[in-house]
This record gives sequence, structure tokens and C-alpha cells, in this order.
Amino acid sequence: MATPEPIRAIPAQRGRALLHTTHVQTQMRVEFKDITSLVQRVVTESGVENGTCFLFVPHTTAAILINENDDTALQKDLDAFLKSLAPPDSNYHHNDGNCDSHLKAALIGNSKCLLVESGRLILGRWQGVFFCEFDGPRRRELKIKVVPD
Ligand code: ZN
Repeated sequence: MATPEPIRAIPAQRGRALLHTTHVQTQMRVEFKDITSLVQRVVTESGVENGTCFLFVPHTTAAILINENDDTALQKDLDAFLKSLAPPDSNYHHNDGNCDSHLKAALIGNSKCLLVESGRLILGRWQGVFFCEFDGPRRRELKIKVVPD
């Protein structure tokens, strides 16, 4: 019977992934807030050079999106597009007045995973990270965990 390979010891600094809770204050019912620099700041403060950055929104009417942050007009189109899929005044079963917000959040999703290299988030030339508010204004939480390789 073969002897199982010993489990290699995990270097001390590998367990340094910390969970950060940041707050995002939104101003409108629907808002796409560019949080790229906020997320980058958390990555920088974590001291992680290479690894993974997890973003999680613990809400049912907010979401995280990665898309173009160069032309702010795109946010108006996103709003109109999502409104066409989930109009606010449709005849919903969930009738507490924010069913459209839940549906939009379900479409966009409440988590994202980004790569970190040399202390920087890997993003395309035109990409930014957006906190999507669909039932604001509210003070929201954003959970960020930066895990070293
Ligand atoms: Zn609801």
C-alpha cells in the first residue's frame, strides 16, 4: 500500500487573506457607481502582490458589474435595457414594490472574481468595476477578500 504524500506546510503569510467590509452610499434608486479605485485601494492595502480579489454584495437588490467606465452614457443605456426587461410597474407576485430591483440584481449577479498581478487589479483598457444599486438610495455593504497565490 502506497504511503500518502505528506501535506505540505502552508507558509505563514499565505493565511493573510482578510475579509474587508466597505460601505457604499448610493444616491438614487438606480445607480451604477464606479468603485474601481475603491477596490484597488483595498487590494493595495492588503499587501497582496499576486492573487485573487473576490467581491460580494450581501444584498438582494444590488449587484456587481464589470463593464466600460469610459463613457458614462452607457449607464443610461444599461438602466433603460434593464428597465425594459424588468419594468417597475409590472404585475409581479413579489409585491412589496421592489420586484424589478430583485430581478435586475439577479440578472447582473452579486459577486465577481478579479485577478491581481503586481499589486494591481487586472482589468481591460475600458473596464471598470461598478456597484449597481437597484433600490436606493441606501447605505450598502461590499465584502472584499484578497487572497494571495
Ligand atoms: Zn422585495
